[in-house]
Amino acid sequence: MQRIVLASSNPGKLAEFQALLASSGLDIVAQGELGIDDAEETACTFVENALLKARHAARHSGLGALADDSGLCVPALHGAPGVHSARYAGTHGDDAANNAMLLRELSAIADAGRRAFFICVLVLLHDADDPTPLIVEGRWHGRILRQARGSHGFGYDPLFLPDGQQQSSAELAPALKNHLSHRGQALAQLRLRLGA
Ligand code: IMP
Repeated sequence: MQRIVLASSNPGKLAEFQALLASSGLDIVAQGELGIDDAEETACTFVENALLKARHAARHSGLGALADDSGLCVPALHGAPGVHSARYAGTHGDDAANNAMLLRELSAIADAGRRAFFICVLVLLHDADDPTPLIVEGRWHGRILRQARGSHGFGYDPLFLPDGQQQSSAELAPALKNHLSHRGQALAQLRLRLGA
């Protein structure tokens, strides 16, 4: 078993990664357990933010590191909320305010312009100076509803209608969402690349 650090302080993510990568020979420990703080996400792309989080965790732990970065992109809004998804309306993690802001920004936009996708980028580094990071991504396409629907999930789930579904991602059963989602797709790619 190779021990690696997960560059996240979200306990839900740790459990999900541990479960999905259990057969990959990776023993995943949360950076918080090693006394490592969150890195500042200062970059303007998901891949750069994931890389800087992984590098920060690898540098401070001396271990290999796995990091993810995710968010929602609306092409009609030039990719917003994008890397600012968690703090679109100003306060980090204020889902209600972020959703209200998204509805406001799209209020004058016809259905055709309400296309959107969630993206998740995963980066795995052998060490902080690894010149060949393993990088995978998943995208989940759909459109933004005019009203929130459903109570599962988090973030923008109540406003996101995935392509091919009649239910918002906050109405889908959590196991189905995890299977279809950007994160599920990125994790499937990672497992494939690791031969797990
Ligand atoms: P993080 O990469 O987990 O910090 O996600 C950044 C932000 O993107 C979250 O705070 C949410 O606003 C949004 N987001 C990412 N994944 C999802 C999802 O599966 N559903 C809803 N919102 C998401």
